[in-house]
Amino acid sequence: MSRIETTCVQGGYTPGNGEPRQVPIIQSTTFKYDTGEDMAKLFDLEASGYFYSRLQNPTCDNVAAKIAALEGGSAAMLLSSGQAASFFSVFNICSAGDHVVASSAIYGGTYNLFAVTMARMGIEFTFVSPEISLSELNSAFRPNTKAVFAETISNPSLVVLDIGKFAKAAHDHCVPLIVDNTFATPINCRPIEWGADIVTHSTTKYMDGHGATIGGAIVDSGRFDWTSAADKYQGLTSPDPSYHGVVYTERFGLEGAYITKATAQLMRDFGSVQSPHDAFLLNLGLESLHVRMQRHCENAQKIAEFLEADGRIEWVNYPGLKSSPYYELACREMPNGTCGVVSFGVKGGRSAAADFMKNLRRVAIETHVADARSCCLHPASTTHRQMTDEELLRAGVSPDLVRLSCGIENVDDLLEDIDQALNKI
Ligand SMILES: *Cc1c(COP(=O)(O)O)cnc(C)c1O
Repeated sequence: MSRIETTCVQGGYTPGNGEPRQVPIIQSTTFKYDTGEDMAKLFDLEASGYFYSRLQNPTCDNVAAKIAALEGGSAAMLLSSGQAASFFSVFNICSAGDHVVASSAIYGGTYNLFAVTMARMGIEFTFVSPEISLSELNSAFRPNTKAVFAETISNPSLVVLDIGKFAKAAHDHCVPLIVDNTFATPINCRPIEWGADIVTHSTTKYMDGHGATIGGAIVDSGRFDWTSAADKYQGLTSPDPSYHGVVYTERFGLEGAYITKATAQLMRDFGSVQSPHDAFLLNLGLESLHVRMQRHCENAQKIAEFLEADGRIEWVNYPGLKSSPYYELACREMPNGTCGVVSFGVKGGRSAAADFMKNLRRVAIETHVADARSCCLHPASTTHRQMTDEELLRAGVSPDLVRLSCGIENVDDLLEDIDQALNKI
């Protein structure tokens, strides 16, 4: 096992003698076989191999293997977006009539997916505060609860999850904990080490890190024992009629069952694939993830400290500040740093926040975070605009919140820009 920095650079793909040094882009929809019988074995999941890139593609598999290694998981898959990853991660083990406990401090798009779209599919979500006590959390479970979902560091409210607390409650009820680790990345936190069973990513953010490709990933720890609650997870533990009666846990073991089912059924049916070319670009981002995360966190720390000491600022939220209620938890779970995103309120509220953003020169206004280039956003008027004020506050997003994603530029250039923009309000 190599160290994580080496896995960023070299993981997932080991070329043989005379083979390409860089992961090859296999830009092919299909794969050729000598006999129909050869291909039939693939269709029945009896042999492993490639036949159609909607199901699997070698480039995507190499990059997924790198992400699995980074998270310390047993298997992983790439998807077309973080939204697809969130959807697949839950829908792979839930159907109409099931229930999920989710943290209320989650990305606005995930909240909408769960509370509106998946509710229409008959899956009910109970949203709980990430601050909830263990006993209150336990009381949110029902006999039909099939999963718990939360974010390591929530976007945009920057709440740090007590992963151990959520894992304990989930495991005491024989259900897996799914954690969206987009903001921390495996460089700063590996949720599986803290008890999470499944990890999801919007690879669009730090993993790509260059604002070049939309993508998602799901990693399975391979540790959740689906057979211990076999009647709850029949999709994994009883025969799948669409694959001649294969039982995923028997054929692929605990290490492979969840990701194989998500690929064989959900990817086959929904087709939310990442293209080989996008996977190649994602892999270029992953090669420098460890170097970039360090700089993102250093810049964010300096900017958060500058803002906190500045009289023109109402409040600052960054888990790396000693004043943060999450400082100690973050030091424990993420000793190397948290993320590059800082949120704050400018004195003067909603309109001062808008003025401040207009005056920025180097920091651009974008619906994006976690990019090499610094950018900022006012969630209440953009990403979270479908939420009522009450829902906003419950998600930890105040109407005056400015979300600043600190890039990897020279921090003095960023500080100067912020300073001049504050002066012009
Ligand atoms: C952006 C984001 C998503 C959604 O990802 P897309 O790639 O935009 O579909 C999910 N979770 C978190 C935490 C995010 O920041």
